[in-house]
Amino acid sequence: MPLVCPDGAVVAYAWKRQLAGQAGASAVDRTRLALKAFTDQKRRFFPHLEDEVLNHLHDGESGIAKRPRMPAGNGELEEKTLSEILKNLENEVPNMKISTYRRLDWSKRASSLASLMDDDFVDPSKELNLQNMGKLRPGSVTTPIDQVAVIELLVPSIFRVVVSLHPAGSVDPDAVAFFSPTEGGSYLHARGLSVHHVFKHVTEHADKALQYFISVEPSKALSMLLRWIADYQTLFAKLCSKCRRLLLMDKSLALLLPPVHRPYHQISSIGSDHQEAYHIGCSSYDA
Ligand SMILES: [Zn+2]
Repeated sequence: MPLVCPDGAVVAYAWKRQLAGQAGASAVDRTRLALKAFTDQKRRFFPHLEDEVLNHLHDGESGIAKRPRMPAGNGELEEKTLSEILKNLENEVPNMKISTYRRLDWSKRASSLASLMDDDFVDPSKELNLQNMGKLRPGSVTTPIDQVAVIELLVPSIFRVVVSLHPAGSVDPDAVAFFSPTEGGSYLHARGLSVHHVFKHVTEHADKALQYFISVEPSKALSMLLRWIADYQTLFAKLCSKCRRLLLMDKSLALLLPPVHRPYHQISSIGSDHQEAYHIGCSSYDA
C-alpha cells in the first residue's frame, strides 16, 4: 500500500516508519535514503540476486546476437516432423515467408496471383500487400499439417519457390521450382517452369539438388532442401565464388545471368554464411 507524503511524493509502505523519523528531510533525500536502505538490505539478504540479473541480461544479449542456426548435417538438432522443420526454418530465416497449402488450394492461389499481378511492374510494397492478402485468405493459413502438399517460400523481390510433398503431410519432397515473386498463373507449381531464364536455370539446378538430397539422406532431404533454397535469397547480390563478378554473359545462351548454381554436395555448409555461388560456366557442375 503506497503512502502519499504531504509534499505529494509516493513511497512504498515498507519505508513509512523510517520516513516518519526523517520528516524534515526533503523528498529527494528521503527517496535516496529509501533506495540506499533497500539496496543494502537486498545485498545483505540476497547477495546472489545482482549477479543473476546480470547473467540473465548477458544471456539475453548473446541470444539475440547469435541467431539460432540449424547445424545441418551433424544432426544435433533433431527435426522429425513437418511442423518442426517449418518452425525451425521460420526462426532461422525470418524474412522468408513460409505458407502451406493443400494441392487444390495452391492451384487456386497460383491462378489468383495471375489476376493480381497483371501489371508488368509490381513494386515491392504492393508485392508485400499482395502477400498479406494471400495470408488472410482462409485455407492458406489453416491447412492441417497432415494435409500439407505444397510449401510456398517467398522472399519478397527475390523469389517464390514451390515445393511439393508426396504424400501430403509427409517430409518427402518430390518436386521443386523457382519463380519470380511477380509471376502468377496455373503454371506456378512444383513441376512448372518460370518464364524467366534466371529462374529456369535455378530450377534445373534445384532438381539435381533435390535428387541428391533424397539419395544421400531421405529422412533429412526436406530440411536440407529448404535450407539450400533459403540461401538463394542472395541470388541477385552474391558474387560468383570463382570470377568474383555478379553478372556474366553466358555466350552459349546469349544471356546475362547472376550465379545460379549453389553447391549442394557439401551438406555441412548448407545454411551457413560460407555457402558458395557460381555462374553456370564457372561451376564444377556441368551446365
Ligand atoms: Zn563466375
